[in-house]
Amino acid sequence: MSAKVELPPKICEWEPCSKEYTRRENEPTNKFKKRRFCSVDCRQASAIAKTRKAAEEKKNNTPPKPCAICNELFYRREGEQLFRFKMRQTCKEGCAKVLRRVRSGVGVPNPNAQPKKPPRPNIRVVRHPRKEPPTPEEISQLPPPVRWVPPPTPTSGRQSIAVTSPQAENLTQAQRTERRIRFRESFQEAS
Ligand SMILES: [Zn+2]
Ligand SMILES: [Zn+2]
Repeated sequence: MSAKVELPPKICEWEPCSKEYTRRENEPTNKFKKRRFCSVDCRQASAIAKTRKAAEEKKNNTPPKPCAICNELFYRREGEQLFRFKMRQTCKEGCAKVLRRVRSGVGVPNPNAQPKKPPRPNIRVVRHPRKEPPTPEEISQLPPPVRWVPPPTPTSGRQSIAVTSPQAENLTQAQRTERRIRFRESFQEAS
């Protein structure tokens, strides 16, 4: 029969519990003095809460930023990774939708939008084999060059009556009128 040392009860440090607890059977005195919670559950709950609180504080240390659409300040969401928050430009889904529309070119342009870099032109360098100059034999086999001959200039007289259309030749308005009159006259003579 071991004599149980009577120690005054302690209060559980997990605030929602705050129950009074006493030393367990066979619990060393030192261990009881160090123990801060009534049960394992309270110890775990307290640890989880502590981690959450730290995360919350860290989150609150991220300063808010203005929404690219409505300009309202928005904060980092619970559980939102820092890089995601840094990338996010809008406070809510509605504003995000507007931003997507603006980016796709529909609606008003957004002055806060980052200017888009023009895409790099897709240039491929194609090397052609160097052409050898033609040999004298090859040159002799080529067809003779065709000389350009200027069209005959219209002359006064019957023979100049339109064979080609007046527009095809570079005639002045007066020359065209003259032709038309001459054509009508020749028709009248024939009938
Ligand atoms: Zn407790
Ligand atoms: Zn907004």
